[in-house]
Amino acid sequence: MMFPIRCFTCGALIADKWEEYVKKVEMGEEPGKVLDSLGIKRYCCRRMFLTHYEYYDEIVSFHTLYGYKEQSE
Ligand SMILES: [Zn+2]
Repeated sequence: MMFPIRCFTCGALIADKWEEYVKKVEMGEEPGKVLDSLGIKRYCCRRMFLTHYEYYDEIVSFHTLYGYKEQSE
């Protein structure tokens, strides 16, 4: 799914920092230090970044597979 706009617990705006977080982590920086540099201090907000997983592409592939099956019957 898409990264949430706000933290589920405290409601702080977090989506504007997601792309920078991903970019820095992919370049090899430590996730905890990236969050510190972005000013994400509360642990409720930090877990939003650390536990998020982009599985949208996987869902799309299953949806396509299901659609193909339905057409062939
Ligand atoms: Zn929060």
